[in-house]
Amino acid sequence: MSKVDPESIRALLPENQRAQPPFFFPAEQIQKFVKDLKCTVQDLGRALAQLIAPFALAPLSEFHVGACTFGQTGNAYLGVNMEFTGTTINQNVHAEQCAITNAWLRGEKQLVRMCTTETPCGHCRQFMAELPGFDEFEICVVGKPTKLIQEFLPEAFRPVALNIDWKKINPFISTFNNATLDSDISSLPENQKSLVNKTFDAFKKAYSPFQISQTSPSAAGIRLKNGDVFSAGYLENIAFNPSMMPLNAALVAMLTQSHNHDWSQIESCVLLEDPKSKVQQSLCAKSFLCALSQNATFSSYQVSVDHKRTE
Ligand SMILES: [Zn+2]
Repeated sequence: MSKVDPESIRALLPENQRAQPPFFFPAEQIQKFVKDLKCTVQDLGRALAQLIAPFALAPLSEFHVGACTFGQTGNAYLGVNMEFTGTTINQNVHAEQCAITNAWLRGEKQLVRMCTTETPCGHCRQFMAELPGFDEFEICVVGKPTKLIQEFLPEAFRPVALNIDWKKINPFISTFNNATLDSDISSLPENQKSLVNKTFDAFKKAYSPFQISQTSPSAAGIRLKNGDVFSAGYLENIAFNPSMMPLNAALVAMLTQSHNHDWSQIESCVLLEDPKSKVQQSLCAKSFLCALSQNATFSSYQVSVDHKRTE
């Protein structure tokens, strides 16, 4: 078994993917890479993280981080750090969060390892500590041996600390199927109606289990000037601050599903939430949107949820 040169993966990609590798590789392609390159899946993941790192959006740090997480399905989901100018520094998305959100949005149910070009920061260790499969979750950093996440985060603060049975609150299977869209969207233009409906679908998969007798799901959707639409739900973390806000998650969707990161092309953004929720996203999302695309319109729509979680 040998280490993998990222360029040897590039050479195996179809011609149209060589300049810009995709953020997703299905299990069959991963198995073929492992066979052709005679490597371990861990070393393949390290090299995929290196392959995607140059596509990091790092105007603040110029520090390019690549990540590649693997699902139980064998699929691989890539991510990069995403930094934004003109707004607060806590809007930034770390590469590991980007990869995990990418996997979540594509329907993966459980992750088994994270491969990165850099040692994960404390924020990302906390974010990953909540994932189902924690006990066996591997971290594979380029140039370093594979370790379990518990070695990176001993005595982790996890959902069990709140007496929550984390097996029942898996972010990858969370659903708010009983939510109802209260805002009347019947008179909206078709493209806006379709954006709201797609965002409502994302809302039902939001994850917000960590407030006392409460839950605050939300989702954001964006439409670009070319008509492309992306949407994503809110992904709460038990330590609160590492949570993925819904607009940030929608930007991950835009980047990882289309390779487009020209935020000025966003023409419309919608935010769905329950006005009775204790956590509210609209104000923050609206000001963040202004920093991304000054002329984009912002609209919020009301959704009702049963504040007791549905399983
Ligand atoms: Zn991090």
